[in-house]
Amino acid sequence: MTDIEARTVAGVFDSVVEAIGNTPLVRLNRLTAGIAATVYVKLEYLNPGASVKDRAARAMLLAAEVSGELAPGGTVIEATSGNTGVGLAAIAAAKGYRTIVVVPDKVSAEKIALLRAHGAEVHVTPGGRPVDHPEHLRSVALRLAAEIPGAWFAGQYDNPANPAAHRATTGPEIWAQTGGGVTHFVAGVGTGGTITGTGEFLKEVSGGAVQVIGADPDSSVYGGGDGRAWYIESVGHYLHPETAEDLWPESYHPAVVDRLERVPDVTSLTTLHRLAREEGLLLGGSSGTAVAVALRVARELSVEDVVVVLAPDSGRSYLSKYFDDEWLGRLGFPLLSAVTEPIVADLLGDPEQAQRPRVVPSGVTVDVARELLGDAPVLPVVLQRVAGGVPVVAELLGTVVAETLAAAPGADLVTQHLGPPLPVIGTTEPLARAVARLGDHRGPVLVAHHGRAVALIQDDRLRAAVAAANGSTVHAEVAG
Ligand code: PMP
Repeated sequence: MTDIEARTVAGVFDSVVEAIGNTPLVRLNRLTAGIAATVYVKLEYLNPGASVKDRAARAMLLAAEVSGELAPGGTVIEATSGNTGVGLAAIAAAKGYRTIVVVPDKVSAEKIALLRAHGAEVHVTPGGRPVDHPEHLRSVALRLAAEIPGAWFAGQYDNPANPAAHRATTGPEIWAQTGGGVTHFVAGVGTGGTITGTGEFLKEVSGGAVQVIGADPDSSVYGGGDGRAWYIESVGHYLHPETAEDLWPESYHPAVVDRLERVPDVTSLTTLHRLAREEGLLLGGSSGTAVAVALRVARELSVEDVVVVLAPDSGRSYLSKYFDDEWLGRLGFPLLSAVTEPIVADLLGDPEQAQRPRVVPSGVTVDVARELLGDAPVLPVVLQRVAGGVPVVAELLGTVVAETLAAAPGADLVTQHLGPPLPVIGTTEPLARAVARLGDHRGPVLVAHHGRAVALIQDDRLRAAVAAANGSTVHAEVAG
């Protein structure tokens, strides 16, 4: 045993840089009821930066030192809203480099605070830009890297050190931990570094026997989705409606993946909730996606099979989203707590069957918008793209209001005369809470089910239903 191996066994390290990796595999016991195969989850949140991205961050930074792109006094630059920035900032702090991270403006205050805690400078840039836009975070980061002497741009999407990190560490760990017994490897695909490097190692060492399965949000284009937005962060490939050419990261080698399985957000979330409540594992959203696929795969397998699924990070980073009834309810996802009072869905019948609200696409003129409005006083305006002849709604932008359009020149773009966005309520939220959130809004309200707008409903119908529910309580008391 070498000196460094001995210290790894003892868990004693010279710096945080060495303490990355060697994360545990934990077997699932309750979610696997009725499944013959063994399913192990690899807990990447136990890395020092609390995610799998520590591995890629370390490998990219060390490779840049070797190539001379990064030298003492240098500056590390990356464009990310997530875990890679934290990993890089922590390692750069330990090694004495300056760090700049460019993030989109929708990123949470906690994430910015986390980066700043490690001494990183955070540049905030408007989100929702196509990848070729000069204000897209990658363009901003590249510009900074060109301007600052001694700056090095990490570029996880196209940096070969990203998949190489997993070929060198994640893959060999899984092989050794299962005594060469792993038969299936499941992971999500963001930059593709994890699945590519781990998958390539496991295929090679097993003579091609290990099956490599990607777990993808159902609208991500990796798995054949239409590219519209979804709610599970950090995995999948989104296609902005104005992207001229859809480029996939070089860190992702699709050839290593035997198949991709698509998972709706609602399944990722319910799996996540069950992992926390039934297995004691508090994991991030992309872990829910990956474990949902691992269970689906394992269900078809026999007692000799060993499925390893990689869980990239912890649920602690998402307590105000995936584990918050307020957030879940607003989007119409299943809540964590049981609700006994009337909910919004009670007014809709079957939300799956609800008629989609009429919408106005963002590219049309005021004249066309007037025709689309017809008799309606207000309709939502959406960013839209056509895929396979079918219009794909990518994002709600605002509204067209008949009254406002009356005075607008007919040839103007409708987006020059947008009204405020409609309030959104969720099918799963208690009616009384949804109405309380509306405040004094009058008129139509969008209803979301499993994260998608499924209906428009008038506020007075909602208010009447709440009054009726309260009224029946009064009657009951009188009758009693
Ligand atoms: N899940 C989370 C939480 C992540 O931060 C990442 C990395 N962006 C991924 C999944 C995807 O990993 P990779 O980039 O290696 O494909």
